[in-house]
Amino acid sequence: PAMLGMLGGGQLGRFFVVAAHEMGYKVTVLDPDANSPAGKIADVHICAAFDDKGALLKLANTCEAISTEFENVPADSLSFLAETKPVRPSAYSVAIAQHRVSEKNFLKHAGLPVAPFEVINEVEDLPNDDSDIYPAILKVARFGYDGKGQARVKNQHEAQTAFAQFEREECVLEKMLKLDYEVSVVLARDVQGNVATFPTSENSHLNGILDVSIAPARGRDAISHQAQKLAILVAEKLAYTGVLGVEFFVCNGELLVNEIAPRPHNSGHYTIDACVTNQFEQQVRAMTGLPLGSSRQHSSAVMVNLLGDIWPEDADSAPEWQVALNNPMLKMHLYGKQQARAGRKMGHFTVINVSRDEAIKQAMQVRAELKIGE
Ligand code: ATP
Ligand code: MG
Ligand code: MG
Repeated sequence: PAMLGMLGGGQLGRFFVVAAHEMGYKVTVLDPDANSPAGKIADVHICAAFDDKGALLKLANTCEAISTEFENVPADSLSFLAETKPVRPSAYSVAIAQHRVSEKNFLKHAGLPVAPFEVINEVEDLPNDDSDIYPAILKVARFGYDGKGQARVKNQHEAQTAFAQFEREECVLEKMLKLDYEVSVVLARDVQGNVATFPTSENSHLNGILDVSIAPARGRDAISHQAQKLAILVAEKLAYTGVLGVEFFVCNGELLVNEIAPRPHNSGHYTIDACVTNQFEQQVRAMTGLPLGSSRQHSSAVMVNLLGDIWPEDADSAPEWQVALNNPMLKMHLYGKQQARAGRKMGHFTVINVSRDEAIKQAMQVRAELKIGE
């Protein structure tokens, strides 16, 4: 069978390997971590840095097409691979998504609404206390995820302290908004430009990390519909091929784009158990030039992340999360990570039901039993 290449060996890559195998492909994973979740189940695991020329050449020579699960893979590596093989999404799209300044500028120029922000290159760029940007969040432009590299600041002085803590790396200072709620849209766009959009999900976060996703989103249908239109616009403006996640704030009843992810998205994990085609199968289809599958959702779904915080100290002892399996409509997904750390994504579960209210009730019951968020 043909071989597909995946840059990154995290849980997103692991679900990709499963989907690719089901579609009759083999997978080579490139990841520097010898114990990465995807590397462990891949057909070939190249254990090397993402800019290792030898490793990239091996990928280019043995794979039919290459994709990524990690938005911080060097865009130069993607350009290099693209000289020989289809790379989807493109280096261009990934480069935009991996840098908050290029991301914000792209969104603004594409006519998409974003939160008020300032680009901070040096300490003099921090607005003084007269600015109505405060209270704000200072976010480093590169390598942030799960709320890392972010500081909430009430005034210029606090912003200066945070900027120094971030070692004066380029940052974005974003106005702290009072959010009604948050939603996201995951979509797939194929080589011909056909788009399949998954239903909008409603997300809540804990300490900057996704906690619960409800799909389809509650709240106004008009918002969900508009979010899908905006997500498609993002994909079209990027001439995107692959799976794209778009995160939104809903603020005073209006949608603002928070950020984009050039890959399947944590808030799209519900598609594994609740949709005809899940986001990882769409990724396989889009990168190989196959037609997309139906994104139709057949059950309401609520996904809850399982973080290292609730893991027993001895990871091999009878895990307490097994009580969750008393609910027969709950689907458990564990990522095979050996070390649990606070805030580290170890797995997730999804409760499905014909009734969204019932799925919410049951998922929140299990979440409480597992003492999540306490
Ligand atoms: P990830 O990539 O893992 O989604 P991240 O580190 O890139 O996370 P953001 O998406 O920028 O972080 O922010 C994480 C969460 O923090 C948001 O989903 C939202 O709940 C909150 N947040 C971020 N920016 C703002 C803002 N300007 N106003 C209000 N809340 C915000
Ligand atoms: Mg992010
Ligand atoms: Mg985010």
